[in-house]
Amino acid sequence: MPPETVLYTHLTPAEFRARLAAAPIAYLPLGTLEWHGEHLPYGSDGLQSQGFFVELARRAGGIVLPMLFLGPDIHEDIDGLPYYGMDVFGFEKGAHQQLEGSAYWVDDALFGALLEAILARLARTGFKIVVAHGHGPSTKFFAEHSAVWSERFGLKLLICWDEVHGDAQTGLMTDHAAANETSLMLALHPDLVRMDALPVDPQVWPRAIMGPDPRVHASPEAGREIIHKNVDWLEGVLRQLLRELKP
Ligand SMILES: [Zn+2]
Repeated sequence: MPPETVLYTHLTPAEFRARLAAAPIAYLPLGTLEWHGEHLPYGSDGLQSQGFFVELARRAGGIVLPMLFLGPDIHEDIDGLPYYGMDVFGFEKGAHQQLEGSAYWVDDALFGALLEAILARLARTGFKIVVAHGHGPSTKFFAEHSAVWSERFGLKLLICWDEVHGDAQTGLMTDHAAANETSLMLALHPDLVRMDALPVDPQVWPRAIMGPDPRVHASPEAGREIIHKNVDWLEGVLRQLLRELKP
């Protein structure tokens, strides 16, 4: 039997009706088109969260939305040029660079309006729970607005971090193109990872990545363990929420 179809884009009406009735959960991968080191593709944030959500949806039910590729981040105009996220964070102070290929940044107002439109459409369609996760600043933005949006749209809103499950090693997407994200990509999309594009010399730090060294600490096994731990945890949380929804 082929694997269960959980992608919204791939469902026919009969499949959609059945999945929504069984578990009215939508999963929103908060992606980017963002520099993720020489070794990972630009869509890494969306690919990791979407890949994780596909596994979670097969266990807990629900439907996985297409990945976004626009998101907020720290933003600075320096000498009239815009820099964001790792352009600034990824370098020593004052040595900022516009990292080639990063094309995701939008301001908070636009990102908020985009998420509000998505949540309004999902509520109208009959979803009761929305889980969003991915790019760090997008995920934090979603979490910060969850209380207000939950009230406004009548939805339960979740991200995949909490105090227990957000730690650097076992949390989902907790660094930038370092051991955690690279492990997840090695587990989900090994064909898209080029470990040999990173500097061979261990004394040379890979350009604009942040977190534990992926050359030393990343592996597909570590990625699978992160996925399994978080699927187990969130499956329990979602099944409890579904029970509470039933009248
Ligand atoms: Zn990332």
